[in-house]
Amino acid sequence: DTPTALRDVTVRYRPGGPPALDGVSLELPPGHRIGIVGPSGAGKSTLLRVLAESAAPSAVGGLLADAHVFHATVRENLALGRAGATDDDLAAACATAGLLDWVREQPDGWDTVVGEDGGQLSGGQRQRLALARAVLLDPAVLVLDEPTEGLDPSAADRVLAAVVASARATVVLVTHRLRGLADFDHVVVLDNGRVVQQGRHAELVEAP
Ligand code: ADP
Ligand code: ADP
Repeated sequence: DTPTALRDVTVRYRPGGPPALDGVSLELPPGHRIGIVGPSGAGKSTLLRVLAESAAPSAVGGLLADAHVFHATVRENLALGRAGATDDDLAAACATAGLLDWVREQPDGWDTVVGEDGGQLSGGQRQRLALARAVLLDPAVLVLDEPTEGLDPSAADRVLAAVVASARATVVLVTHRLRGLADFDHVVVLDNGRVVQQGRHAELVEAP
């Protein structure tokens, strides 16, 4: 089942400790683009994790902050997004993430070994590979936590726009790049585990 809302979520990492999320609700109307912003430690990653854990990975998935486990080859990494994907599917996802030219330059193509730690890939290439995997996953709710870390700023905006445009359904994006949220349906500002502001990007007077 695809979640359409989170209601009054409170998360503590240790019993009696301070809440990382403190009564947060989030509407997820199908097809909406929702941005989450706020300072470090505000609870953004925790919110995405709660969302990802609220349903099956096929319904909610994408690129979480702590989910950068790499496998042996480019193809195997992408297959984690969608088992049985054709080379055309892989090429489309890699084109969206801006990795296709690089793959085509490799003598071994899709079977290029990247290793468990991302190996020979640069930080930006790893991020593109993780994004291509998220695109292949094609979940009903696509969650993306700072998905353009490691990309240079001009590439970051382009790749992010392509990935968001490729998603058929709901997108929930954590980012510090507010510019990328101008077309989003809803932006939520978190601070200290609470929603302190929300609305369209243009309505947020104090957005960080
Ligand atoms: P409409 O699409 O009818 O103009 P809005 O998008 O302005 O409605 O939202 C109506 C109410 O629901 C507002 O109070 C808004 O803050 C809230 N809301 C909308 N989307 C979300 C969301 N993704 N998370 C939390 N609240 C939301
Ligand atoms: P953000 O993504 O906005 O930087 P996080 O969701 O990562 O915020 O963190 C929210 C709060 O929860 C912070 O105070 C952070 O230190 C704490 N926190 C996050 N992950 C853990 C964890 N695994 N164990 C204990 N505390 C955590």
